[in-house]
Amino acid sequence: MHTHASFVNGRTSTTEGHLRTLVDPSTEVEFAAVVDADIDAVDEAVQSAHAAFSEWSSVRPRARTVVMRTVADLIRRDVEALASTESQNAGKPVAAARGEVLAAAAAFDYYAGATDKIGGQTLTPNAPGTLLTFREPLGVCALITPWNFPLLILAWKLAPALAMGNTAVAKPASATPLTALMLAGLLDEAGVPPGTVNVVVGPGGSLGEALVAHPLVRKVSFTGSTEVGTSIMTVAAQDITRVSLELGGKSASLVFADTDLDACVASSLWSVFDNAGQDCCARSRMFVERSVHDQFVERFAAATRSIRIGDTADEFTQLGPLIGPNHHAEVIGHVADASAQGAELICGGTQPDRPGFYLEPAVFTSGDATLPFLQHELFGPIVGIVPFDDEDEAVALANDSVYGLSGSIWTRDVARALRVARRVETGMLSVNSSSSVHIEAPFGGMKQSGLGREQGMVALDHYSELKTVFIADDEAP
Ligand code: NDP
Repeated sequence: MHTHASFVNGRTSTTEGHLRTLVDPSTEVEFAAVVDADIDAVDEAVQSAHAAFSEWSSVRPRARTVVMRTVADLIRRDVEALASTESQNAGKPVAAARGEVLAAAAAFDYYAGATDKIGGQTLTPNAPGTLLTFREPLGVCALITPWNFPLLILAWKLAPALAMGNTAVAKPASATPLTALMLAGLLDEAGVPPGTVNVVVGPGGSLGEALVAHPLVRKVSFTGSTEVGTSIMTVAAQDITRVSLELGGKSASLVFADTDLDACVASSLWSVFDNAGQDCCARSRMFVERSVHDQFVERFAAATRSIRIGDTADEFTQLGPLIGPNHHAEVIGHVADASAQGAELICGGTQPDRPGFYLEPAVFTSGDATLPFLQHELFGPIVGIVPFDDEDEAVALANDSVYGLSGSIWTRDVARALRVARRVETGMLSVNSSSSVHIEAPFGGMKQSGLGREQGMVALDHYSELKTVFIADDEAP
């Protein structure tokens, strides 16, 4: 069994520490070990990133582009190794993991093309002189990532941070550190200078918090639970460290009677069950116009029963296990809770007779959207379907949530789609589609779903600071 360790200042750490084994969620078999770093490693990693900042931030844009394109090429070269590692570590069907690895490469491609498109403004002041603005890198960025899309979410943070000229310390989720460590090796191979990107493996409660609190960290980009996001904001507030947060969600699909129901069912199935529902964008609330509600439920349940659950290494598997035993037990508890709250279980919710942390996807119906299981993020393959009578009610139901991350509108009426889209309080919406992620467009949430946006050119704003320079026409007397 191979043992992995943190990557600091261009090399794999040899410092001894707590040895932890990783279990394949699909088989419950131990397959790798990691050494958890101690608090000193956080300081070492931040100091290395701080020292590397002057070199990386002065690399000319085109040279930075070349390095970042090489990273994208190396990710594609190693797509199979990365995908099978991600699959085994995070319990993902390998075909899905492959797609995520390629999307991570695409993030590096996208931001590789951004390096020479970053600039400021020339302004006309009301004083004799010229005003200029510059967009400048921040310094050391702390990138704290979750276990649901380990490599992809790291790429969404690291690529814009590097394109802007920053250096980084990444803290992957304890459960899924492997592809972050593999990426560190690829960055090194691509010519990213030592210390520019460091990966520290270990518990978030101690290492993650020490990273956020480190005085040399200028920016924290976090994806994970709203609870930890709140704690990060509190710690970061001490030094006014910049934060951006991608947090939880309880997104809604609004299905109007005029939609193509079959297309809607086929697509929205994966809007909630993709990644076994462990997805912040999961549309775990489906509001369906009453006249087609029963038909929708019937077709959605039939489609759910046909999902192929199985070995994550099998190319044809569509749904894998949950991340681990504790989360598995919690999600099974949510199924029982939903029934106890009065929702009707239409299908699923049972554990298949096989090893691994699997759960048959559960479809519930309810006439009451205020039930706790329809309000709290469950992070598992559980959906609640609720009828509505008109457009106003549909919007009100969608907005009755502390979250506002993603969502879908299903209708053939373009005017209605636009009307509803403007009224739903959410960061991202798709019409007649379940997609939430486009590397070209801002990704992020309203309300308790987060702060700031990732992806698109706007992400560069979160990894830079604006500076204003006034140049007087004449030297001051
Ligand atoms: P957490 O928010 O607990 O963890 C996310 C990351 O933050 C991990 O790297 C974790 O490290 C780290 N971390 C934990 N505590 C701290 C801290 N005090 N300071 C700094 N970093 C910290 O999410 P989980 O992975 O435990 O998932 C729990 C819930 O969060 C899910 O059930 C879901 O509701 C939500 N979630 C949302 C995601 C999203 O995409 N928006 C993604 C994942 C989870 P470590 O792993 O070592 O604890």
